[in-house]
Amino acid sequence: MKLYYDFHIHSCLSPCGDEDNTPNNIVNMALLKGLNVIALADHNTGKNCPAVMAVGRKNGLVVLPAMELTTSEDIHILCLFERYEDLQKLEEHISSRRMKIANRPEVFGRQLIMNEKDEVIGEEEHLLIVSSGVSVEDVAALVKGFGGIAIPAHIDKQSNGIIGVLGFFDDSLGFEMVECTVDSGVKLPQITDSDAHYLWDISEAEHFIEAETCSARGVFAALKKLCARGE
Ligand SMILES: [Zn+2]
Ligand SMILES: [Zn+2]
Repeated sequence: MKLYYDFHIHSCLSPCGDEDNTPNNIVNMALLKGLNVIALADHNTGKNCPAVMAVGRKNGLVVLPAMELTTSEDIHILCLFERYEDLQKLEEHISSRRMKIANRPEVFGRQLIMNEKDEVIGEEEHLLIVSSGVSVEDVAALVKGFGGIAIPAHIDKQSNGIIGVLGFFDDSLGFEMVECTVDSGVKLPQITDSDAHYLWDISEAEHFIEAETCSARGVFAALKKLCARGE
């Protein structure tokens, strides 16, 4: 079946994410847009995934747990998972390596952790848009080891895109898929997402993936299959 997706959406936990990007607002907007599956990908954290996944379950939207990891080179890598427990392992791994700089909410924005009722249950005190301490050379194998897929994010963007930073796409880094809004020119399967920091930026039902079932398991299996095709 065709499942319309947007695998790169930020919530109010990303300092640059709008505070209206709450679990319920994200899920409702995705459904309004006609999407079947989304992934919540905040900078260097997955702490709002449980709430968004719970709201998704209640409303018939598949939500993959994810994170947009910043490498030590300042490259953004979209890390998609099927299970939240696996994403948590990545979060634990980077928690000791991540740069610890206090967030300045008045400059960067607040970093709100919410429950499935959109109530604030915590605030991340360290700025999330810093290096995770993981190098671009290690990230593909690391994420795969935790059961996820590491996808260089927005590779057509100059800032924080892998080509913009390194100057070229290095095939030896072990990536199996890229995220790009135009034809990437890279010989790997490609996904196209919104990278929405505001609700209205969430994708229309435009890009789809062929999956066996409309479930996290089905979508993740479809992504893995695409990755294998690139080999
Ligand atoms: Zn990014
Ligand atoms: Zn992003």
